[in-house]
Amino acid sequence: MKQVDFLVVGAGIAGLSAAARLARHGETLVCEAEPAPGVHSSGRSAAFAHFDMDAPLVRALTAASLPLLEEPGARVHPALFVALEGQQAELDRLETQYRQWAPQVERLSVEEALAHVPILRADEGGIVGALLDPRGRKLDAHALLEGHRKALLAAGGTLATSAPVTAMRREGTRWIVETPSASYAARVVVNAAGSWVDAVAGLAGVAPIGIRPLRRTVITFDVPMDVSAWPFTKTVGPGFYIEPEGSTRLLASPMDEGASDPCDVQPEEEDIALAAWRVEQATTLTIPRLASKWAGLRSFAPDRLPVAGFDPQAPGFFWLAGQGGFGLQTSPAMALAAETLATGGAWPEELRAVGVKPEMLEVERLRQISY
Ligand SMILES: Cc1cc2nc3c(=O)[nH]c(=O)nc-3n(C[C@H](O)[C@H](O)[C@H](O)COP(=O)(O)OP(=O)(O)OC[C@H]3O[C@@H](n4cnc5c(N)ncnc54)[C@H](O)[C@@H]3O)c2cc1C
Repeated sequence: MKQVDFLVVGAGIAGLSAAARLARHGETLVCEAEPAPGVHSSGRSAAFAHFDMDAPLVRALTAASLPLLEEPGARVHPALFVALEGQQAELDRLETQYRQWAPQVERLSVEEALAHVPILRADEGGIVGALLDPRGRKLDAHALLEGHRKALLAAGGTLATSAPVTAMRREGTRWIVETPSASYAARVVVNAAGSWVDAVAGLAGVAPIGIRPLRRTVITFDVPMDVSAWPFTKTVGPGFYIEPEGSTRLLASPMDEGASDPCDVQPEEEDIALAAWRVEQATTLTIPRLASKWAGLRSFAPDRLPVAGFDPQAPGFFWLAGQGGFGLQTSPAMALAAETLATGGAWPEELRAVGVKPEMLEVERLRQISY
């Protein structure tokens, strides 16, 4: 049986980014159920980084992450937040929150917003105000994953694909972890299985933390104009977002949240229709046909905040979970937190500087919540 220090379950962005750091501290193995990394949430994301996030903790983790998100995994690209009729107060609130982390953000008139995205409608039911962040980041999930995979291997770590973890038991000071082709004895298990984290905990006899996978739908369609310079554009309340995918294609989502089991989730017809309808309502576009469509799961803890830390009831069992709709943009900070907490290091200055404390991420808070 192979002995490892850290066995990470899941090669999404959470697991691979943490593993690349942990490999500097000891023998590290990532077990991924699928034949390649990023098959689930991490490969189905809209892949944008901005500060329009509900929770101050998530904004702080984003602020700590942005300096660590570099090309080819990230490039500067503007983000435009638009208020539809009735959403003016939301825009005001967003501006205040946003300025704390991104003072460069600019309030735009409707005319100025239309200069950036000329298809937006400004008549009845259309946009009434906008906020532009010229320094948003377009992320490249595959480049990020590939960078972490290479860093993991360079530090002597291993990625086992088509290696679902099927059983786990505690023997002495080690977790015995079974996959169909091999068994491992690990000092620390890092549960980074995305939507499946509670199921993986169940394999180890560890109590769940109530992670809820919520389905989000994406469509893409071609447009008769060059959109490559258009900002990522998102309504501040319920509505939609659009972003360029190359020069004449747009990606859109109705920002839906359909409850789902952890699975290879597929888009529902009504959510696809809703995506197209919301875009058509707020713009001058018609969408006669789709270029592609997919859905992915965004996994939330009951308080919708991320989790990183050892389970106080299960020695050597580390949770890295609940990355919701912000798992790519917060991954550098979360990987740093996971590395520090799993190895007992001093809390990093990058996290201290933005006010993130270890207790904000810990598991125990969720055991107080009934779900
Ligand atoms: C439509 C959509 C848009 C999004 N937009 C953004 C965005 O713009 N910006 C942003 O930052 N985030 C965004 N997100 C969220 C982001 O994609 C997620 O937060 C992030 O990918 C979660 O990463 P993860 O590693 O936790 O999960 P995953 O990527 O799902 O990885 C978990 C892995 O664990 C593996 N696994 C499960 N069980 C086992 C087992 N028993 N053994 C071995 N392996 C196992 C799975 O196969 C999977 O590969 C979006 C998500 C969606 C769906």
